[in-house]
Order: sequence, then structure tokens, then C-alpha cells
Amino acid sequence: LKFKGKAYFDDLGEAYRFVGTSLDITVQKMLDDATIELLKQKDDFMSIASHELKTPITSLNASLQLLDKMKADHGTPMVTKLVAMANKSMQRVSTLIEDLLNVSKLNQGQLHLEKTIFSIDELISGCCNHVRVQGNYEIKTSGLKNLQVYADEGRIDQILVNLVNNAVKYAPLSKQIIIHVEKADAMVKISVIDKGPGIAPEMIPHLFDRYYRVDKSGTQYSGLGLGLYICAEIIKKLGGQIGVDSELGKGSSFWFTLPSAK
Ligand code: ADP
Repeated sequence: LKFKGKAYFDDLGEAYRFVGTSLDITVQKMLDDATIELLKQKDDFMSIASHELKTPITSLNASLQLLDKMKADHGTPMVTKLVAMANKSMQRVSTLIEDLLNVSKLNQGQLHLEKTIFSIDELISGCCNHVRVQGNYEIKTSGLKNLQVYADEGRIDQILVNLVNNAVKYAPLSKQIIIHVEKADAMVKISVIDKGPGIAPEMIPHLFDRYYRVDKSGTQYSGLGLGLYICAEIIKKLGGQIGVDSELGKGSSFWFTLPSAK
């Protein structure tokens, strides 16, 4: 039972009267418990499914890499085209599974971070090369050089690739992406800037929520709405902040900060 009301006390501090209502919340409590159980089952299912998918995907990926190497000696133009298409799909599936695995780890408190001091410049140039291989985007870097940060290098690489890939995906006409680095007090701020369609102000507060997508029908671009959520959770764990400045029709600047090592 849940009570709501006012109690009256005598001089000795004993309650002698209660005015109010009592509500039987048994059913409400059962529903809450059922919802929590359902959510837990959903998380467990996601975790098991993504773990199970990871092994065959890894072996498929290895076969594809081999085919990719062999095509130069044995392949016809058609084989080359098919291998390229398969590689692209493989990359998408791998990213989706990786995202699901990361979310499972976050849910179970098992996403461990390894912090070291490293140069943000090297990481950015690695990321630029990675994306340049995939398309004809001009990726420019601007701002300060030779800055060192204290964070998990692998995870920051993952976040940077995610933000640049989002710029490529959601701002396809932008053609130019800028990665800007600056210092803000004891933090280093890294921004990924595109000149794409921008994001409506009312969407911005939800962008870093789990499963949030602006285009909910998913007709235009595929995705699970997990990328930015994972980025935000990692940055929070590293003691930084993440956000976006965006204007419709002008573009977006997704940024995050990390503790500076100098
Ligand atoms: P997903 O790409 O799987 O939808 P994300 O969490 O990476 O998931 O992104 C959430 C949403 O934010 C996307 O669905 C998209 O609508 C929006 N978004 C992300 N990056 C950009 C960008 N650079 N320009 C415009 N919209 C973006």
C-alpha cells in the first residue's frame, strides 16, 4: 500500500490521526517488475546474439580479405566488383555488431578503459587515412598541433572514426570535413565539422540517447542509433564532455573534450 496524506501528532509525539488516501500499488509494482524483467531479457538477448554473430562474421571477414588478395591474380572485373560490394556490406555488419557488443558491455559495466598519454595528431592522421580510403572526401585538419591527451587511445580512435563516418553518411554533399583541435583550460577539444544539412534544435537534446535516430523510418540511412550513445558513454567515463553545435542548412560540429596531458 502507498500512503499519501498528513499525520497529526500529540504533545508526546504520538501520531493520533492520519488524513489522506491509501492506494493499492500491487498491480503497478508487478507491472514495473515485469518491465524491468523484459528490459533485462532484451539486453541479455542482444548480448548473446551479438556474441554469437561475432565469430562467424570474423571468419567470413578473413575469407573476404583472402579473396580480395586473390582477385588480382584470378579475378575478372565482375569478381572484383562483387568482392568490393561484399567488403562494404561486411564493414556495415561488423560495425553494427561491434555497436551491439559495446552496448552490452556498457549495460553490464564491463566496458573497461585503458588510459595512457598519447598524441592526438597521430590518431587524427590515422583516422583521415582510414576514411580517405573509403571515399573522395577532403578531410582537413586545423588548429593546434602536438597536443597530448590522457585517455584510451583505441576508444578515441573508435569515436573519431564514428564521428567522421557520420559526417560522411549524413552530410554526403559536404565533401569537406574538418577536424579541429584546440585547447580549453586543462582539456583538449576535438571537433568534427561538416557542411551538411545540420540538425533541428529540438532533436539535439536527444542525439546522444540510446537508439535515437532523427529519421526514425530509417528509409534514407541505415543504423541503430547507438553510435553517438556509445561515444557519449565512453567520453563521460574518460572525464570529458561531448556535444554538438548545429544549424539547419549550414552544418554540424560534433565535439568532445579530453584531459590534456600537458
Ligand atoms: P545512427 O547513425 O546509427 O543513426 P548515431 O547515434 O551515430 O546512430 O546518430 C544518431 C542520429 O544523429 C542519426 O540518426 C542522424 O540522424 C544524426 N546525425 C549524426 N551525425 C550527423 C551529422 N553529421 N549530420 C546530421 N545528422 C547527424
